[in-house]
Amino acid sequence: SLKCGIVGLPNVGKSTLFNALTQSGIEAANYPFCTIEPNVGIVEVPDERMAELAKIVNPKRTQPAIVEFVDIAGLVAGASKGEGLGNQFLANIRETDAIVNVVRCFDDDNIVHVAGKVDPISDIEVIGTELALADLACVEKSIVRESKRAKSGDKEAQKLVTILERLQQHLLEGKPVRAAGLDQDELALIKPLCLLTVKPAMYVANVAENGFDNNPHLLRLQQLAAQENAPVVALCAAMESEIADLDEADKTEFLAEMGLKEPGLNRLIRAGYDLLGLQTYFTAGVQEVRAWTIHKGDTAPQAAGVIHTDFERGFIRAQVIAYADFIACGGEAKAKEAGKMRAEGKEYVVNDGDVIHFLFNV
Ligand code: GDP
Repeated sequence: SLKCGIVGLPNVGKSTLFNALTQSGIEAANYPFCTIEPNVGIVEVPDERMAELAKIVNPKRTQPAIVEFVDIAGLVAGASKGEGLGNQFLANIRETDAIVNVVRCFDDDNIVHVAGKVDPISDIEVIGTELALADLACVEKSIVRESKRAKSGDKEAQKLVTILERLQQHLLEGKPVRAAGLDQDELALIKPLCLLTVKPAMYVANVAENGFDNNPHLLRLQQLAAQENAPVVALCAAMESEIADLDEADKTEFLAEMGLKEPGLNRLIRAGYDLLGLQTYFTAGVQEVRAWTIHKGDTAPQAAGVIHTDFERGFIRAQVIAYADFIACGGEAKAKEAGKMRAEGKEYVVNDGDVIHFLFNV
């Protein structure tokens, strides 16, 4: 499954945040298909729609979607040169599918900042530079290799070298590959290189409990992120970790006192799921209401394949009710009566929230 890697400089609150995630995470035993490792947190994707569906369907159980976060320690300036835990750090990040960049936006004289002062923009630069340098080394090695193939007349290698030389310039300026404007074909050609800065990225601003408003660090981070088109989730890791430790009743009370609808972690989890390019469709039966995870843009047979590969192979059609119709009509039978159940074929691109029933041959 797809994973978000949590990165950031030392002492920005990564472990605090990761611990909060795993605290509120799921029982590993319920997910035998997931590998449980100490640095991987598997969390349910909070989705209000599950409860709404359950109210109508009254199922025996509900099963939300899940997403994985990986705690990736060891980023320091010089990581790309193999300093500190540099190599391990880069190897770990290579295995993730998106990057969650935790940035310190709280002032606290008791907590040492590795660079001497709280400065989100320069922290982001340090991280960006290390990742870009690692990619640069990779691109330059590849240019040498592919140039040989290109000289012997390999058309694909020639095309690749042209792209790589463009990326080399781009990376030398410290810019991430994701901002290089590559098209789908070009991205497919460079995929085997497993570059780091091509992965989608977002920021977590770790703010003080009272640091959500009028926080100059946060404002600067938000400005930078807007230029990069990157999402920002502001939360207080220390507070999230306290909330995660509470039982359900205390949690509800605490959140109400703070005037919050839900923990900040929920926003982070949903943003991570979205960053990974994932979306949800539902099956809603009396046995189970369940959220299934697919990629944005997946077709009906691909969506069926998530339930079982036989469903994809033997796909006949999908009976689809849009989530809003399902709720507005009050369930499948009434949605069908109202003409809101559609029969969709192999080409149908599934919408987020679709409630689907698949018909298939075995
Ligand atoms: P990491 O090195 O990035 O994993 O950072 P840690 O999670 O270990 O946090 C470093 C220090 O900052 C610890 O002493 C934390 O208690 C503290 N810390 C983490 N989050 C917050 C926060 O939101 N506010 C404050 N004031 N301190 C925090």
